[in-house]
Amino acid sequence: MKNNVQSGLLMILLTLLAVLGYNVWLWETALPQRSYTDFMEDLQNDQLTSVHLLGNEIRGTDLYDREFATYAPDIKTLLPQLEAKGVTISADKPATLFDRLLRMALFIMVMIGIWYIFTHSQSKKNPFSKTNQFQLRSPPGEMKTFADVAGIDEAREELREVVDFLQNHEKYNSLGGRIPKGVLLQGPPGTGKTLLARAIAGEASVPFFSMGGADFVEMFAGVGASRVRELFDSAKKSAPCIIFIDEIDAIGGRRGGSNGGSHEEREQTLNALLVEMDGFSTTETIIVIGATNRPDVLDPALLRPGRFDRQVTISLPNLHGRIRILEVHSRQITISSALNLAIIAQGIPGFSGADLANLVNEAALTAARKEKLAVEMIDFEEAKDKILMGLERKNAAINEQERRLIAYHEAGHAIVARLLPETDQLHKISIIPRGSALGLTQQVPVEERYTYSLEYLLNRIKILLGGRIAEKIVFNHLSTGASNDIAAATDFATRLVCEWGMSSLLGSTVYRRQQHQFLGDIEIKGQYSETTAREIDLEVRRIIDSCYTETEKLLRSNNKLIHELAELLLINETIDAEEMDIIMQCYLNRS
Ligand code: ADP
Ligand code: ZN
Repeated sequence: MKNNVQSGLLMILLTLLAVLGYNVWLWETALPQRSYTDFMEDLQNDQLTSVHLLGNEIRGTDLYDREFATYAPDIKTLLPQLEAKGVTISADKPATLFDRLLRMALFIMVMIGIWYIFTHSQSKKNPFSKTNQFQLRSPPGEMKTFADVAGIDEAREELREVVDFLQNHEKYNSLGGRIPKGVLLQGPPGTGKTLLARAIAGEASVPFFSMGGADFVEMFAGVGASRVRELFDSAKKSAPCIIFIDEIDAIGGRRGGSNGGSHEEREQTLNALLVEMDGFSTTETIIVIGATNRPDVLDPALLRPGRFDRQVTISLPNLHGRIRILEVHSRQITISSALNLAIIAQGIPGFSGADLANLVNEAALTAARKEKLAVEMIDFEEAKDKILMGLERKNAAINEQERRLIAYHEAGHAIVARLLPETDQLHKISIIPRGSALGLTQQVPVEERYTYSLEYLLNRIKILLGGRIAEKIVFNHLSTGASNDIAAATDFATRLVCEWGMSSLLGSTVYRRQQHQFLGDIEIKGQYSETTAREIDLEVRRIIDSCYTETEKLLRSNNKLIHELAELLLINETIDAEEMDIIMQCYLNRS
């Protein structure tokens, strides 16, 4: 609504300005007036060289080349006198009111045209840029193929078909098959949705039109919708081709929703998109690829047959995928022959394709800073830590007492992780503060897991508690540094009871909890009775308590190991998996 009023007012303002501008222009270009008496006098004195007659209006030039205008009450008697004096005469039909209006209308149209071009060429960042909002064809060098896409093989295979549709559309059309119009790529940010869409265009060598969903909205009323029409019009001229709409949820969110003021504009845009998608025939072979990381908010109308009826889900890459993506991106840099991408990939579960591309780049930059000839493992480690935790705070002032506490705390985590069965592999222990973390104990899953045993989950809780327990055993001191661990352990235990139904007491029931935003605070409300809530709390307490007791017993009986590991940490700052193996071996051999 706001948008409509705004642009309406703007139009009126612009029209007024145009009328005003037109009159100023007339006034500016108007010739100086001369009275008829003066004119006749000049004529008698042979001062005039030429006149131009428009009805009774006269435009004349005198001997000094000055131009002027005057009005003759009676042309018929004037003409013979002009001829007698040898003044050059020319004449035109007088301008009628219609002519004037026409001229004015023309002027206004030119003004509006200029405004239109201006607003339609503006991009968000640079209002003066004249580039089109959507871009045709990838610039050379930016051509992508399936070889650039790694680690998301399933999605890639599903989309190979689309390449075939684009390349052999005649074949499909002649058989009467219906080529899909829309493909929706859904998945977390940075998983390669844009890359995949570009690769399809590259493989099929067809033009690629791309536009961000957010570009369609936040504009003057109606502009979003006309943008959509423009986009499809250009695409139709270049069919077969691909239209890529990134963040389609920006326009394709549920209609009638109440999120924010501009939803009316968004609805218009969405409707235009639906009309366009229904409008082109399948023989035109345009494939619209939409990308979103929020498929849940999409308007169901978008997903109907004939629209985005194919949906391809892209998830974060697993270990194998991460290795493959690292391989693709390290082709562009010089890597040391000793570099083991598999080990790097192991340490970074949850990294997206974009994160991995960033990692490779950071590692190359790190190596370059050290003037190395090839990128080495250590550069990747540094790049990873930098990305994961922000820059190292090497010079952060931490006193010796604090450092000892951190070393014993981390040793506690690490020892519990090593001594218990059914845990993730220990990757690295460090007491170098990074970002907001004072120290860290990193574990990596041996393989991606989708189901977890109760033992594994309980051990996770024990590992979390291990830090605080080690502090307590050695210093008999409770620090606030462990509060994150305790919160995480409690959260884990709660999920164990409520979500995973692993409590023997409460059974395999899912107790739904809902988050409510209340005055900025997040309130967790359970959809169960007060009694159940109390039972859940008690059960969580019981799990934590029993984990605590067991862990304390474990650590007390390995008291020596805590000291050894902590002292080593204080000297070395970091201990990796291999070093940890050696330490454990020595310790176990002795005892
Ligand atoms: P999305 O569109 O899903 O947010 P992008 O396609 O924009 O992600 O990915 C950003 C960048 O990350 C790509 O240009 C590419 O360099 C890298 N990338 C992401 N996924 C992959 C992948 N599966 N294989 C190779 N590179 C990838
Ligand atoms: Zn801790």
